[in-house]
Amino acid sequence: MNFNEEQKMIQETASKIAREELAPRAAEVDRQQIFPRYGLQKLAEAGFLGITIPQAIGGGGSDTLSFVLVAEAIAKACPSTALVFVTHGVVSRALVIAGGDEQKKSLLPAMTMGKKLAAFAVTESSSGSNPFAITTKAVSDGDDFIVNGTKHFITGAEEADVYLVVLRTDQAKSPADFSALIIEKGTPGFSFGKKEDGMGLRGTSDGELIFEDCRIHKTSLLGVENGYLAVMPKFVGLGMVGIAGVSLGIAQAAVDAAIEHAKSREIMSQPIGQYQGVQYLIAEMSTSLAAARALTYSAAQQMDGPPPPSPLPLYMAKLYATEMAIEVTQKALQVHGGTGYSRELPLERYYRDARGLTLHFTPSEMLKGMLGKMLMGMPPF
Ligand SMILES: Cc1cc2nc3c(=O)[nH]c(=O)nc-3n(C[C@H](O)[C@H](O)[C@H](O)COP(=O)(O)OP(=O)(O)OC[C@H]3O[C@@H](n4cnc5c(N)ncnc54)[C@H](O)[C@@H]3O)c2cc1C
Repeated sequence: MNFNEEQKMIQETASKIAREELAPRAAEVDRQQIFPRYGLQKLAEAGFLGITIPQAIGGGGSDTLSFVLVAEAIAKACPSTALVFVTHGVVSRALVIAGGDEQKKSLLPAMTMGKKLAAFAVTESSSGSNPFAITTKAVSDGDDFIVNGTKHFITGAEEADVYLVVLRTDQAKSPADFSALIIEKGTPGFSFGKKEDGMGLRGTSDGELIFEDCRIHKTSLLGVENGYLAVMPKFVGLGMVGIAGVSLGIAQAAVDAAIEHAKSREIMSQPIGQYQGVQYLIAEMSTSLAAARALTYSAAQQMDGPPPPSPLPLYMAKLYATEMAIEVTQKALQVHGGTGYSRELPLERYYRDARGLTLHFTPSEMLKGMLGKMLMGMPPF
């Protein structure tokens, strides 16, 4: 892929931050479940927390491919930081696309500077793959809504400041009538519950958001009431290619480590890279990674159109890249033998981090179902 000058500069800057600021802290972020605020601030200083926000409203005005290049570069060092970066980017784009002038003015500059971090809250304990089962409800009361419900597994939960919360209002008449509210931390009736203790991506501070008679002014609606499904594809696609980018970064780190190890580890007086079994593993990993990268970059490019983006390349990139990262990190661990299994090396962490990505932003099985139906000309839902 030939990058333009801006994309090259963005990739180099993100890689430098990843190498110098994120990599030295990544193991600790994982072990101690530290939310990577330090690294996020470094990304904000480089302008990356508002990278796709138009320049006219204080952002970087860069394209979707640049966003993916940043996610990939960061994930090579610290996937937890990369996942929070992607989530923040998705909510930023949602505000750009569907937010009112007041919301844009009051939130986007602070989000670009990293003074306010964003979280994206859809999942509930009974509605993960099936968002139609969402029960969080907003009941109209004059100029306000009264919100009740609990979201779980939300990236950045207690650490974020601004929350895009998907729910139903009492005016919902059809299963497709979802709404979204922008709710800020500190609002009375909004608190935090259980924090997840996940196997990977342990710096992302996933947890519960609890709304108990939480009064929210109606100007906090994102777009129009019951209009969430109409605007959602325009920003959720950024999450899909963003997660694909995170998968590329993790897989690249694993392949690099495997090649290095294959060249330096000697068994029976020769480097293990001299053995055909190991050569096959290196070749398979690198080929899968290259294929995922090609799919992801082209899906990102088509998002900026024209013509209007198709969901098919986004679903394919998310599906293939996340599954690829599991396969590649597993093989890279194998190349390392027992040391790959040890927590002294990052191989086991790469594997654990990759594992979560096939679940978030639509699990693989759901993507396959939607792709299969769309490819046969059927409606995806
Ligand atoms: C690291 C991480 C971060 C996350 N961050 C966020 C966040 O910031 N915000 C947020 O809202 N959510 C977040 N989530 C939640 C995530 O989006 C959900 O886990 C996901 O939607 C799946 O829902 P579930 O866990 O309830 O699984 P379930 O819906 O219970 O599904 C269980 C399994 O059944 C399969 N399945 C379900 N339906 C079908 C079907 N029709 N056909 C075939 N297979 C099916 C699924 O693919 C899955 O493998 C995060 C999850 C993870 C792991």
